[in-house]
Amino acid sequence: MNSLANTIAVQSHHTNTGFRNPSPGFKETRITDFFKWKLLDSMKNGKPQKPKKYHFELIANDGKYLRRNKTDFTVTWIGHSTLFIQIDGMNILTDPIWSERCSPVPFAGPKRFVKPGLALEGLPDIDVVIISHDHYDHLDRTTLKKLGNKPLYLVPLGVGKRLQKWGLDNYKELDWWESVQHNDIEFTCTPAQHFSGRTPGDRNKTLWCSWVVKGAMNNFYFAGDSGYFPGFKEIGQRYGPFDMAAIPIGSYMPRWFMRPVHLDPGEAVQALQDEKGKICIPIHWGTFDLADEPLDMPPKELLHNVDELNLPRDDFWILRHGETRVVAANH
Ligand code: ZN
Ligand code: ZN
Repeated sequence: MNSLANTIAVQSHHTNTGFRNPSPGFKETRITDFFKWKLLDSMKNGKPQKPKKYHFELIANDGKYLRRNKTDFTVTWIGHSTLFIQIDGMNILTDPIWSERCSPVPFAGPKRFVKPGLALEGLPDIDVVIISHDHYDHLDRTTLKKLGNKPLYLVPLGVGKRLQKWGLDNYKELDWWESVQHNDIEFTCTPAQHFSGRTPGDRNKTLWCSWVVKGAMNNFYFAGDSGYFPGFKEIGQRYGPFDMAAIPIGSYMPRWFMRPVHLDPGEAVQALQDEKGKICIPIHWGTFDLADEPLDMPPKELLHNVDELNLPRDDFWILRHGETRVVAANH
């Protein structure tokens, strides 16, 4: 292999059997690490105590304003990484999950602590659904089947096969840095540092990604699930600045296990600065219990980091479930 081919091979996220994280220094977690976390760590003290009950506020939102709105750039938090976003007159959902559990089966697995912030039926017609990867908390079969074939599904490489199995064929699969135009909006599949898989045998067989969505007037970035990596800077250089950026802040403890694939709130602030986001919408918290930190801890930690850096708190919109905010009013 000549040196150029060698460089390309080293940088590539493609492998013979699937995909990988190409950042130098990235260390793959092994199944033994998972058991170490679940068995050994649970015996150790020093983990933050989780309350039995949380008091999350669920905002009454019947979707009336959203169904009427054709101009404002809005964002509504449904819960976890599900956002309903209206941009340039287009209705978009990110990683939609309305199900009671994020799991392969309806009777077991992580259960939601807060109801979806808005009923699926309350939303206007969805034009585009963007999917970041195939984990159960991001790619929910029941929700997608309810949404049906009308929206266009934009998915990273390999995920389309699964949609097809579920009877959905209105999709486009993209590799990192590939774009598609839909109406007047450009969607670009951008890198993330994460992993994929829904069964023991399919780890990293499909790609994971983040998304850049660029309209004539407004734009945003949706980070999906990601650890901290140099890709944020590159995305910012190529496509930033962004009016709004949805960044995951939860599922980060214990750090020794989660760090490569999940940002902690401090890293989320750094990621926002790297990719040049103006308004930050924290996602991936307060809905499903997937890690060691209490569900209400990520936003507290986020604000702590924001204050330490003397950043304006007003730029960090910690939405309540069901809350809609107008990012830009366009008249
Ligand atoms: Zn994930
Ligand atoms: Zn996730």
